[in-house]
Amino acid sequence: MITAPRKKKISDIAHYVASQFYQSNVTDMEAIAKFEGLQYYHDHYEDAFDGMLLYDNKDFHIHINIDRGNGLSTKRGNFTLAHEYGHYFIDEHRIGLMTGQIESHASLHNVNQKNIIEYEADYFASCLLMPENRFRNFSGGPRKKFSLDTILNLSNAFQSSILATVLRFAEIGTHEITAVISENNIVKWFAQSKDFPKWSFKFKVGQQLPPATVAGEFFTKTDSKYTGIEDVEPDNWYYANDDRANRTMHEQCYYSDSYGYVISLIWFG
Ligand SMILES: [Zn+2]
Repeated sequence: MITAPRKKKISDIAHYVASQFYQSNVTDMEAIAKFEGLQYYHDHYEDAFDGMLLYDNKDFHIHINIDRGNGLSTKRGNFTLAHEYGHYFIDEHRIGLMTGQIESHASLHNVNQKNIIEYEADYFASCLLMPENRFRNFSGGPRKKFSLDTILNLSNAFQSSILATVLRFAEIGTHEITAVISENNIVKWFAQSKDFPKWSFKFKVGQQLPPATVAGEFFTKTDSKYTGIEDVEPDNWYYANDDRANRTMHEQCYYSDSYGYVISLIWFG
C-alpha cells in the first residue's frame, strides 16, 4: 500500500496536470498527450494488456488495447490512459523506464495482483480523472443525500468507470460509505470511508458474502435482483458493537452485467 506522504506527492502532481487540461468536469486526456508530445495508439492487442508505456531511447509511446474495452473516450479507456500517464508523470517511474531500472510492463485492470508501481499509477489515474475539489463540489456537500445515483452521476460527469468512482468516493467523498465488490458470491475487495465505524466485517476477502445481504441473496436465491435502496440491519454486514448501530442503514447494489461483478453500497441515512 502507498504511504500517506507518497499519496500526497502523487495527488499533487495529478491535480496540477488536471488543473491545466479540463473542460467542465472532464479532464481532457488527448490534450495532455498533445502538450507533452506523447504518441498514443488505440489498437487491437488481444488479451495482452490494457495499456502499456514504452520508451524507445528517445520518445515515450502509449499503447491502449481496444480488445479489452479501452476505446478512445470510453470510461475504461480513460482510466487506462490515465494510468499510463501516471508512469510518465511520476518521476521515479519515468526515470526508471528511461534508465531501464523499471521494465516496461503490461498494465492490467486486476485489483488483486498488483505491485507498488501499479498501485501508484492507479492512484495517479484516479486523482487525474477525479480531482478532489471538482469531485467534492459536484457531490454537493454532506447534507446532500447519498445513493447509487450519486456514484452514477459522478461517473458520468467525470467520465470515470463505476469502480474507480466508488473507490474515489470512499476516499474523498462527501458521505461515509462501505463498498463491497463481489463476484459469484465471493468478496473480491472492499473500500471504506475513514469516518465509517470501524466495526469488524462478517466476511473476509476471498470468502462468501454474508447470506442476509442484498448481494448475498442475489447470488443464492432466484428472482432476488433488488436494485432499489433497502433499509438493512448493520448486523447483516458487521459485528456492530456501539450505538451507531441504531442509526438507519441503507444498502443498494450495482450489477455489472458485462463484467459479472456486484457492488454493494452501504451507508447511513
Ligand atoms: Zn502500469
